[in-house]
Amino acid sequence: MALSGLQIFKLLAKTNCKECGFPTCMAFAMQLAAGKAELDQCPYVSDEAKAALGEASAPPVRKVTVGTGDMAVTVGEETVLYRHEKRFEHLPGLGVLITDEMDEAQAASLLTQLKQTEFNYVGQNLRPRVAAVKSDDPGKLAKLAAMAVEIACAAVVIMSDDAAALKAAAEPIKDNKPLLYAANESNFDAVAAVAKELDVPFAIKADTLDKLAELGQKALDGDFKEVVLDPSSSSLGDVLMNQTLIRRAAIRKTFRALGFPTIGFPCLMTGDKMLEAVYASVFIAKYTGFVILSDLDPARVMPLLYLSQNIYTDPQRPMQMDQGVYPINDPGPDSPILVTTNFSLTYFTVSSEVEASKVPAWLCIMDVEGQSVLTAWAAGKFVADAIAPFLKKSGIEEKAPHRKVVIPGYVAQISGELDEELGEGWEVQVGVREAADIPKFLRQWSAN
Ligand code: SF4
Repeated sequence: MALSGLQIFKLLAKTNCKECGFPTCMAFAMQLAAGKAELDQCPYVSDEAKAALGEASAPPVRKVTVGTGDMAVTVGEETVLYRHEKRFEHLPGLGVLITDEMDEAQAASLLTQLKQTEFNYVGQNLRPRVAAVKSDDPGKLAKLAAMAVEIACAAVVIMSDDAAALKAAAEPIKDNKPLLYAANESNFDAVAAVAKELDVPFAIKADTLDKLAELGQKALDGDFKEVVLDPSSSSLGDVLMNQTLIRRAAIRKTFRALGFPTIGFPCLMTGDKMLEAVYASVFIAKYTGFVILSDLDPARVMPLLYLSQNIYTDPQRPMQMDQGVYPINDPGPDSPILVTTNFSLTYFTVSSEVEASKVPAWLCIMDVEGQSVLTAWAAGKFVADAIAPFLKKSGIEEKAPHRKVVIPGYVAQISGELDEELGEGWEVQVGVREAADIPKFLRQWSAN
């Protein structure tokens, strides 16, 4: 069982020397208990305390990093079953399978596509970051692994049942920290030995959770910390059940043998591309660390990346923009003034529609602690006596002296009060409710 902050505190030196970066031993103990600090940050932990604390302070789902630098994909380090309990820590690494059934040009083309695929979503760049290479031929496997590093700059998963082939492919790129996939009942010792020798993470695979837990315990007994689990799910029901049971065992029971992140291969479960996307979405929704697809069709990759980002957004920290006046399409003194809230999704939805309209405009973004228009209005934050002083202090009068302000259609009811609050010389206009109608609205506004 995980120790409480107080239990951990009792095992510390209690000198409050601050060398760990925290003001007191108690503060350090609380952070350690929450999985937000590492034991080795304190140089004064006795061997006895280390033995007691080391295992207890590790997160229930261990952290695993595949790749290094910009190529690194970190998964795991999770402490909750449901996002609203705290947050999920690390986005799953989405990737693509490259096999020796492709010729070299096809493999190179897919790896180039992997490197170039990127989508911007509410201000964040999202991309698939994993190349899983598979071959039964050791020479071809090594070639594909090297190409994945050189061309895609991706985190690499090397797939073979043959420990010698894994070693031959991983050794030249061991500094890029590839994941060896996979150790099973029959090759566990050989694959684990390669992982230890090259100091890289490895995956374990079994066709039942009992066998997976046995191998997980074997990895723990061998002092392996970076291990990834594959429960060999072969149907949608399997995915749902296995992923949930593994996470529950790790979080609710602190069952260390299954306290590792997982990997899923929707690409190997079906030949139907749409069904593959459905499987992938369930893997993502159910905690999977690495999700490997058969191709990088943007029509499926983009929604899967957006899904991951939505699930892994910290619910305690609303995504928000800085308050201010944002010029779009190079506006001038006669350009319309739009005002809305600083919820990131609102900003990016509105600004992209304004951009698409090609009409120059001033977008006044008001700080309402990252809430959407209606939520902020209901909370009394996006109301007339708050908007008026914001607009007057924003400097928009100097930029657009016409002082005609367009408010979102959803808060049409505040237009009269805002008119009064702003006073003489200002004019409040009610805009559209849906962002999709903004281009038409702006073109009409400019024509008048
Ligand atoms: S470094 Fe260790 S002894 Fe010093 S304050 Fe931190 S926890 Fe306490």
